[in-house]
Amino acid sequence: MNQLIFFDGRVIEKKNLTIDPFSPSLLYGMTVFEGIRYYYDKEINRMIGFRLLDHFLRFKKSLNLLQINYEISFDYFLKSIENTLVANKLNEDTYVRVTLILDGDSSWSGNGIPKLMVTAIPRRSLVNLNELLIRVSVTNWIRISDSQMPPRIKVGANYINSRMALLDSKSKGFDNAIFLNLHGKVAEGTGACVFIVRNNQLITPSLDQSILESITRDTLINIALDMGIVVIQRAIDKTELYISEEVFFVGTAAEITPIIQIDSFIIGNAQAGPMTTNLHMAFLEIVNAKKSKFKDWNTIVSIT
Ligand code: PMP
Repeated sequence: MNQLIFFDGRVIEKKNLTIDPFSPSLLYGMTVFEGIRYYYDKEINRMIGFRLLDHFLRFKKSLNLLQINYEISFDYFLKSIENTLVANKLNEDTYVRVTLILDGDSSWSGNGIPKLMVTAIPRRSLVNLNELLIRVSVTNWIRISDSQMPPRIKVGANYINSRMALLDSKSKGFDNAIFLNLHGKVAEGTGACVFIVRNNQLITPSLDQSILESITRDTLINIALDMGIVVIQRAIDKTELYISEEVFFVGTAAEITPIIQIDSFIIGNAQAGPMTTNLHMAFLEIVNAKKSKFKDWNTIVSIT
């Protein structure tokens, strides 16, 4: 079946998408976007979106920081996604991407003709953590910083930095990379945030360490606090990564991904560690709307 996408107020076939060859999005990667997960609940035949309001608010912040003039209500944001899910008859776990495209012939500093695009593709949620254990390297590429290209927002062009690091690590035989920031402290992965476990405490770089203001990072902090785990947000040294008991990535796409090796150092016993496993169990309950305390984070959509 031809994939259907939502573009500028209408559902269209992907192959019919047209965009100006001089558009700032095409020429300069000038896009603002959100990656959002919807989890399918087959008992009720509904899709359950995760933290939609927070994705919407971050989307607005990204637009604001790039000084893009585009008015959008939360209702329109939600409806655009729901139309895409329904049009594609999606009844499985899905990854939704909401992108603001600057179409039209315009310079990189212009506003172009802003158009909202939504795509939705099936993407299974990782239920068994030990299915995806990854090895990463600390890349020599430095994470972009607040004074250059702010990593705290979700902008297409930021991913040039991620691309360089990912290709660097893959060329050395690793699955992914961890960036240090300009100050030599741990920042984040190429598309995910980092958590470490030391002495039963959960530690993650604070928001001033050149990282995206990640929604999954915030989710994990909340889950851990709810479980009575001590959570510390602070600068992390590279060598702390090497001697951590557990390390994992978090992100909308990554969910929770255990890291079992960093450079030549094996982490824990090269499996998902106990704290990672407990947090993951709670995470799955919450994203699948099984925990009443966190139900405000779930948006239930009927797809029939
Ligand atoms: N950092 C980067 C660089 C990312 O691309 C992502 C994925 N969006 C994350 C962190 C995780 O962010 P979130 O939890 O909001 O998906």
